[in-house]
Amino acid sequence: MKLTGNKKRLTPWLLAAIVTLVIAFVVTVFLSIHNLNPQKQIIITKKTAQIHTQPKKNSGTVKEVQQGDTLFVLNQKRDWYRVKLSNNKKGWVAISDSNKGQKSPATNLTATIRQDKTKLLLKPKEDSPTITTLKSGTKITISSEQSGWSQVRAGKKEGWISNRSIKMGSRKKIDAPLTNKLYARQNGTYIRAKAKRSSESIYTLTYGDELIYLGTKGDWYKVLSPDKQIGYLPNWTVNFSKPDKKAPYQISPLADKIIILDAGHGGSDVGAISNDGIIYEKMITLSSARFVEKALDKTGANVVMTRSNDTFVDLQEIPLRGELVNADVFISFHYDSSGLSNQATGFTTYYYHEKDIPLGEVINKHLEKNIPLVNRGVALGDFLVIRESNTPSLLLELGYMNNDLDMQQFITKTYQKLVAKSVTDGLTEYFESK
Ligand SMILES: [Zn+2]
Repeated sequence: MKLTGNKKRLTPWLLAAIVTLVIAFVVTVFLSIHNLNPQKQIIITKKTAQIHTQPKKNSGTVKEVQQGDTLFVLNQKRDWYRVKLSNNKKGWVAISDSNKGQKSPATNLTATIRQDKTKLLLKPKEDSPTITTLKSGTKITISSEQSGWSQVRAGKKEGWISNRSIKMGSRKKIDAPLTNKLYARQNGTYIRAKAKRSSESIYTLTYGDELIYLGTKGDWYKVLSPDKQIGYLPNWTVNFSKPDKKAPYQISPLADKIIILDAGHGGSDVGAISNDGIIYEKMITLSSARFVEKALDKTGANVVMTRSNDTFVDLQEIPLRGELVNADVFISFHYDSSGLSNQATGFTTYYYHEKDIPLGEVINKHLEKNIPLVNRGVALGDFLVIRESNTPSLLLELGYMNNDLDMQQFITKTYQKLVAKSVTDGLTEYFESK
């Protein structure tokens, strides 16, 4: 009797426990199927978007929301999200009006490196600075691809690798959710209104700033800025993973800057002539500009040459070019001449506009440090190419064509490389302090 009594009391308790477990299981399964994620938020990316009463375009509207507004998603039906509005009302918004409607740049394919010493580059181009080199067999994750290049993650580092150096893993996507977050990899990158350098900047990023990816346009990403504006930035200025605050990866302050190099004279305009009549200024200025171009390329700067061969360029046109590409700096290269042979010597840094004196001083300082000629200093020079330019501009006279000793120096590769180093170091210091 006592035993049966015990059993009778135990059975309902067991039943209750089983029922509770079953309910908990069903609820969990139900939630995982029907509720995407109660905390899921979306950001409106259209200038304005309508919140509809039904998940249909022609249904009535509850409210109009603005670009950058954040909404909580309750659930989803086809191409629509049911969202909660700030006034506790509910309604439907087209997914395509939000950041979730954009394809993620992250394809997250896995791959391995084909051979030792494969370079992980800062930008998708051969002469880009190297971030690190990778060993054969290193596992990487590809986050985006463009014209023969893959943007990859290898350990904690991110960069670009030529597709030739990569062996693709399975084409199956990784299960992990695709990220649509991007992070600024340097200070001072501009988000621009349009996908071009000359477009106005609408936001200046700080290292580590978080952005929402909205789309790709050539080498540019369309993004939502931290203050919820829509704009564009070059794809190499951002990471797909949150950068390590303790060990920021510094890229050259020259990366992304537009530098115009003007090799003085050219074509029928030979410039000054050496004492023996053999060497023309136009040859040496082109050589200098080319050496500087090479050195600047390694920093990630965008270099524009006013001429890259022996052609005549209309002086009136040169300042205009700077305006057209919205350059950061314009430098014109020249070699001097004096009334009498072998009388004057040295190099001079000319500016025209007072605002360009700091740039002149820093470049001149590095020239003095490196090149083996007398420093004639920073001086005001009324030259058309720097006078008519709104871009910070300098004109460098890097020695006297009609001084034999000067020429012995500046016709050497060593001298030209030192000019390139001075200009690059000077510009780096100039932009670092900005
Ligand atoms: Zn000249």
